[in-house]
Amino acid sequence: MQLISGPAVAEKVLEECRRDIAELAKVGKKPGLAVVLVGDDPASRAYVRSKDKKCRELGLHSVKLELPATTTQEELLAEVEKLNNDPAIHGILVQSPPPPHIDEAAIVRAIDPAKDVDGFHPVNVAKLALEDSTGFVPCTPLGCQRLLIDAGIETKGANVVVLGRSMIVGKPMALLLMAKGIGGDATVTVAHSRTKDLPSITRQADILIAAIGRPEFVKAEHVKEGAVVIDVGINRVEAPGTEKGYKLVGDVAFDEVAPKCQAITPVPGGVGPMTIAMLMANTVKACKQA
Ligand code: NDP
Repeated sequence: MQLISGPAVAEKVLEECRRDIAELAKVGKKPGLAVVLVGDDPASRAYVRSKDKKCRELGLHSVKLELPATTTQEELLAEVEKLNNDPAIHGILVQSPPPPHIDEAAIVRAIDPAKDVDGFHPVNVAKLALEDSTGFVPCTPLGCQRLLIDAGIETKGANVVVLGRSMIVGKPMALLLMAKGIGGDATVTVAHSRTKDLPSITRQADILIAAIGRPEFVKAEHVKEGAVVIDVGINRVEAPGTEKGYKLVGDVAFDEVAPKCQAITPVPGGVGPMTIAMLMANTVKACKQA
């Protein structure tokens, strides 16, 4: 069984970014990322901090905009507009979830698609469906695809089951895998909470991507012998007696599934580090295309 290491592949992606950043510096360009946080949700604050830190480590221009929870829709739209017009900024993301009075979809639509490094703007969703490589693909599925490519897993002709149909993970993942070319050309099935007899569907998968947000939901009975399993889930579960009182587990019951697999990603240490690496890569791409 091959354990697919997220940190190792993420480091390769970051190394490619460093090379590109050095090339861009020669022509006087420096990629810039603006991360906007509204409110003080501790998890969101931690994500924003780690994105800012990674930008600085790479030598990217990083702007961290922390706005109070009372920020109105109009005020937030005005900040996005400023960033759209700022030539030093090539990537903009508004950390999700914003406070409930904010219309998140309207904010995403206000971001210049050329700076939408999260890949959530309708223009970028359409470009993904159209296989237009100038668009931006959401970072997590892009990271999963890169993991498969680097692990030498053949997707061409493979039966892939994507478990989960969110706009952030499942749906773009399915589009990437069914697109023509490297890391694509798969036969893709998308399963979700309304899918009938789920184990019989997931057992057909040569490659199973689990992105449902249910701790250790995918059991041995869901997985075919010799399958490749990519576990996108990040779930906090109680762990009495540990220092933090909780631990992180994936959507896959690793201990019982791993022995059946040709290859599998662990949690933590799998998909997680890829997401931020692909965000950096998307920001570098946005700068190159600017
Ligand atoms: P969402 O809650 O947006 O979507 C979950 C999807 O799973 C939905 O399509 C839902 O179906 C489906 N689903 C839920 N329960 C079941 C079930 N019992 N059987 C079959 N399908 C089910 O989650 P996200 O896509 O945003 O995230 C999924 C997981 O990935 C989470 O654990 C999240 O923390 C993690 N994640 C990890 C990232 C990383 O960096 N590694 C980044 C983003 C997410 P339906 O549509 O019918 O409701």
